[in-house]
Amino acid sequence: MNPNPESQVVGPMRDYLEGEKHLDSKAMEAAVVRFQRTVGGQFSKERKPRDQDEIKLYPSEAGKCERAILYKALGIPGEPFMSDVRFKFAMGDLVELLVVYLIGHAKGISLTDNNTIMEIQIGSRKWRGASDGIVKCLDGKKRNLEVKSTSKWGFKFTKERGVDDNFGYLTQACVLTRHMMQEKLIDVPETVFVYVDRDSMHFHEEIVVFDDFSLAHKADLKFDRVLQAIKDKKVPKRPYQLQKGKLGLQCSYCSHKFTCWVRPHQAVTFEMKEGRPEPVYRVQPTQYLNTVFSRGKPNWILVGNAE
Ligand code: SF4
Repeated sequence: MNPNPESQVVGPMRDYLEGEKHLDSKAMEAAVVRFQRTVGGQFSKERKPRDQDEIKLYPSEAGKCERAILYKALGIPGEPFMSDVRFKFAMGDLVELLVVYLIGHAKGISLTDNNTIMEIQIGSRKWRGASDGIVKCLDGKKRNLEVKSTSKWGFKFTKERGVDDNFGYLTQACVLTRHMMQEKLIDVPETVFVYVDRDSMHFHEEIVVFDDFSLAHKADLKFDRVLQAIKDKKVPKRPYQLQKGKLGLQCSYCSHKFTCWVRPHQAVTFEMKEGRPEPVYRVQPTQYLNTVFSRGKPNWILVGNAE
């Protein structure tokens, strides 16, 4: 029995966990493939060399800031992850993999197209991207699926306030939902977000309805502006300001922050020193970010005058 009649996905997942288990060999095969990809992606150095002539924008980044999208498209290296962050990402991937596996086993729901590459129109071009899949829910309707593993704070905020677009989750889902509706892959313009609290392993579900796809329309304009900026060899304006001399939320989590805030503008690279990435500048900077730790947590302070 689904304990929460409002729940389309999480209820059947809980029922499966608390009830009789069985093994679905297809779901297991998909899990093994995804596991290999996770371990390979997070723990191996192998990366295909980037084709310098090919500009790639990613639907998963549709909600990010234009500068960050441009830096990635140009192949500017981001700050390398420290060991704990890399491990956290790997654990997040594993949690998501298990949720997908559970959906594949739970009664009354089913999943297809997990991580299947699609050609998604954003702005004037199509870009390759994938979603967590298409879930056929308890009510029989097919929806786009997003699985998120989150800290206990992120989980609490989402339960209280719903899904927000601070890290572009809504824009990304809106772009995918629009594509799936256009291709008639889903029945309603909706995304089911399944959240997992990494501390308590509690689940939470939110269904977001994209009535007018306004976020996807904004992403269209954004991707086209990034393409134009690349053509014009210009850097788009920074959409975020400093907050009391420190980086705000989005910039703190951005792997291109050192390149973004340095003057003279230059692609900043990194060297590992005592387990931490240290920025290396080609040209002596007059403005740069200084990392300051307070109670073990980093803050980034701008040294020099903000431009
Ligand atoms: S540091 Fe902030 S403004 Fe700069 S690219 Fe990253 S998110 Fe954008």
